This record gives sequence, C-alpha cells and structure tokens, in this order.
Amino acid sequence: MKKLVLSTRNQHKIKEVEAILNACLKTPVEILSLDDIELYGEIEENGTTFEENALIKARAAFDKSGIPSIADDSGLTVDALDGAPGIYSARYASMDGRDADDEENNKLLLKNLEDKADRSAGYVCAIAYVDKDREFTVRGEARGRILEERQGNGGFGYDPYFFSDDANACFGVISAEEKNKYSHRRRALEAFARLWEEENDK
Ligand code: IMP
Repeated sequence: MKKLVLSTRNQHKIKEVEAILNACLKTPVEILSLDDIELYGEIEENGTTFEENALIKARAAFDKSGIPSIADDSGLTVDALDGAPGIYSARYASMDGRDADDEENNKLLLKNLEDKADRSAGYVCAIAYVDKDREFTVRGEARGRILEERQGNGGFGYDPYFFSDDANACFGVISAEEKNKYSHRRRALEAFARLWEEENDK
C-alpha cells in the first residue's frame, strides 16, 4: 500500500485525513504520523502564509523520512479585519506567541468585530506535498460569517461562532460528519487527491 506521512502528531487529524483521502483516491494510502517517522521536537512554523507554513512542515517530514509527505495549515480569515486572525488563528489572543485558548480567541474576535457591519469570513486550509521530485500546495476554503452569539459546543476553535454558508448552519451545532462535508480541510484534501492522482497516472 502507498504511504504518505502527514506532518502532525494529532491522531484525530490522522484518522480524519485518512478517511477523507481514502474516500476520494482510487488506490488507498496508509498515513504515517511524525511519531511513526520518529521526528520529535517542534517544527518552527515561521512562514508568512498558510502555504509557506504547510510547506515547512511537509519538508521537515520528507527530509527526515524520505517518504512522500503532506502537511496542512489552517485558520480563520475575516474580511473586515484584513484577513486576521489568519495564520495566527491559534494564538490570536495570546500575548507571548503561544497558543491561546478558544474562549480567549473568540472573545477577542467578537471585540474586534463590534463596530463592523461586514462579518463575512472564511476558514482556509492549505495542504503542501513534498517528495524527492516536486513540491506543490493546494488550498480549500469554507465561506460564512461570524455570529454575534455562540451556537452550540461542537467542533473546536472558532466553530461556535462560524455560520457556514454551505451547511446553512453554525459549525458549533452540526455533527462532525456534517461539518466534514463542507470543511476547508476536506476541500483542500480533495484538491490534493486530484492533483496527486493526475501526477501518479502520468
Ligand atoms: P491548524 O493549522 O489545523 O492547527 O489550525 C490552526 C488554528 O486555526 C486552530 O487552532 C483554530 O483556532 C483555527 N482553525 C483551523 N481549522 C478550524 C476549524 O475547522 N474550526 C475551528 N477553528 C479552526
């Protein structure tokens, strides 16, 4: 079976990505984690875009393992805030550069949107692929808007305040399966699967 490293230690993400990819690829893949390739320690994500950060993580995994590798980098971009929190989504409310908790991040987001009429926003996910011959990135997006009041406790991060245009519901109230139909990660993975298969078929 073909192998791909996914540059993460998050087992939940591994399972989710494996399920999505195997639903859209013609031949199944086995996904390995950073622990499987024994890459321990932090990978410094010092890029300025989702794509750059995804590439940094995918290159680190490929350099260590020699196995074709992918990585994802995602976040929320709010139009009226010039794309913030963007690549800083996990640490939006943090003062010292470390991740802040979801509640603090959401509180700051609502405060910064208080005087804005336009609350349109999108989740963005970039996937980077690296092997010995090539590198490429793809992007998936889920559009919607930021609610003034939270709805539900589902998902994570900004989900209880994100109303998805496609689902016509807040990501905080729908099931994980339903969210995965419309998510930025799913769209990016589908775009990756198409490109990867095209290249493999050449
Ligand atoms: P990561 O790149 O997947 O680790 O995501 C970075 C940050 O973006 C997370 O910590 C969240 O704040 C935000 N984020 C990314 N994807 C989602 C999502 O599907 N729902 C809610 N927040 C998300």
